[in-house]
Amino acid sequence: MHLDPATLLIVSSVMTLLVGTLFMLSWRQALSSRALALWGVAHILGASRPGGLALRGQIPDLVSIAVSNAVVLAAYGLIWSGVRSFEGRPIRIDLALAGAAIWCVLCLEPNFYGSIEARIIYASAVAAVYSGDAAVEFWRGRRERLASRVVAVTTLGLHAAFYLLRIPSTLLAPPPPRLNPLTSPWVAILCFVTLLFSIALAFTCMALVKERAEREQRIAASTDPLTGVANRRAFASAAQAALASHRHAALLLFDLDRFKAVNDIHGHAVGDAVLMGFCAMVASLLPREAMLGRLGGEEFACLLPDASPAEALARAEELRRTFAGLAVPELPSLRVTVSIGIALARNGSDFEMLMRRADAALYVAKHGGRDRVAVADLEHAA
Ligand code: GH3
Ligand code: MG
Ligand code: MG
Repeated sequence: MHLDPATLLIVSSVMTLLVGTLFMLSWRQALSSRALALWGVAHILGASRPGGLALRGQIPDLVSIAVSNAVVLAAYGLIWSGVRSFEGRPIRIDLALAGAAIWCVLCLEPNFYGSIEARIIYASAVAAVYSGDAAVEFWRGRRERLASRVVAVTTLGLHAAFYLLRIPSTLLAPPPPRLNPLTSPWVAILCFVTLLFSIALAFTCMALVKERAEREQRIAASTDPLTGVANRRAFASAAQAALASHRHAALLLFDLDRFKAVNDIHGHAVGDAVLMGFCAMVASLLPREAMLGRLGGEEFACLLPDASPAEALARAEELRRTFAGLAVPELPSLRVTVSIGIALARNGSDFEMLMRRADAALYVAKHGGRDRVAVADLEHAA
């Protein structure tokens, strides 16, 4: 099969340009995602590399070698910056353009500019460093679980590895001094690598942006915006799932005492702060496997998988006591307490039934004088 180098170069230039345009169009629909704009500009700039190679000898060397490669190295820096921006890290435009700037300075040195070997080694090293670090940046953000993250790390890692390998291969088999890029076997390899890299990166980066948006929507749909804990629906489905897989569990139902008066006396903003403080306090004292949710207003629920009756009671007492002891120096008269109803689950209890029993226990705690814990049908559960 004969592949015409000039055709290959034109194809890879047009494809890279298209990918850049696609990124810019996506950015217009999601202006807050600066990463898309950086990746778009990088690809549009990167499209000049095949053009520079194709026109070598027909346009001044200064343009086809010095300028064209400086633009490409800046493009790698921008891809790296796009990844940092995506990961919420500061964009270091000075570092992003350092590879290109050093290239320009080196080109003023005749020994460097005249050595195709030195130029290839420097440009490959810069490409490997930016791509390699972009892969590391994506990997560092892995706590945010996105399906395409591994693909992005692999794509950038392979790209870095390719350019790293190009360094020893250039040293072992130096290109002839007056090499015409169009007759070099490297041109086809470079075109394929550029094409594959641009397309793979475009797909994975677009997928990452989409997956993040979906993840944020999912989290927003299941989280209470004021306190950050699960909302009623999310808590109910998580609790149902936990009940199905644990033989024992305890459901704690909380209702803040005389909370209407807190709003009336101190204002709604203070009431909101109390609700947030309550959740922060509970979350800090609960074990890792516990689930906390806001059922609505000043009512919360917590499911303790595998908790024995004694353990559930002890935890509820600790939460009640700690909350009653909380004080804000600026508002010495502000003291809030909580009443807690506990229901114990055994062998796949029904969630709705458990809620009704905990609610009945909560009613007992309220009518017993508030700021106390009551357990539903303890004898039966024990
Ligand atoms: P009890 O001890 O019987 O539970 O009395 P209570 O005042 O806590 O009960 P009630 O149900 O009468 O009042 C609940 C109050 O919680 C009324 C409502 O204004 C307040 N509330 C509900 N949601 C919010 C919220 O998001 N922020 C604030 N600040 N207040 C809220
Ligand atoms: Mg209430
Ligand atoms: Mg209340």
